[in-house]
Amino acid sequence: MRLKSIRLAGFKSFVEPTKIPFPQQLTGVVGPNGCGKSNVIDAVRWVLGESSARNLRGDAMTDVIFNGSTRRAPASKASVELSFDNQSGRLGGEYGAYTEVAVRREVTRDGQNLYFLNGTRCRKKDITDLFLGTGLGPRSYAIIEQGMISRLIESKPQELRVFIDEAAGVSKYKERRRETENR
Ligand code: ATP
Ligand code: MG
Repeated sequence: MRLKSIRLAGFKSFVEPTKIPFPQQLTGVVGPNGCGKSNVIDAVRWVLGESSARNLRGDAMTDVIFNGSTRRAPASKASVELSFDNQSGRLGGEYGAYTEVAVRREVTRDGQNLYFLNGTRCRKKDITDLFLGTGLGPRSYAIIEQGMISRLIESKPQELRVFIDEAAGVSKYKERRRETENR
């Protein structure tokens, strides 16, 4: 499973609809300070379900919407779509048969969040469920940031267990059990 491309519109500094393709296994993003490199990672994290504004380097969840410049009016909404190559069928369930899976999140100024799977409206939970056990998701190991390696090395066994459960594919079942027990 591989991230094939990202489409952004109105997200942080990406006010114009922008498509960023990732044609290779390895892609480097380079550019001067403040050009928007980290905003691309924020966009990925946001679609995968990040619900903390601070982890997206903002104060409020609507801070991800382009907030205007001297020459441009603020955008009314932010939209980001991630397209995954799913030829391996790693994204299972009803999406297992799709060779490409597109996951989109939108937010409007009034704070309403919308989620889409292959263009169809869905719940946030559908996206969380889709990625559970694949190593993707807001608190997964798919995005390794500065300082994270040392935090992992120094973490307590219980904290480390979260990553091991996810890598082993156990977290999906633990989550289902938790849901059942809470019913
Ligand atoms: P560095 O090399 O310093 O890490 P970077 O390329 O990672 O820089 P980012 O942090 O991705 O840069 O981008 C910061 C830019 O994004 C700033 O210019 C900031 O004004 C802009 N930005 C962030 N949020 C918004 C927003 N909601 N609306 C408009 N611009 C925004
Ligand atoms: Mg940066």
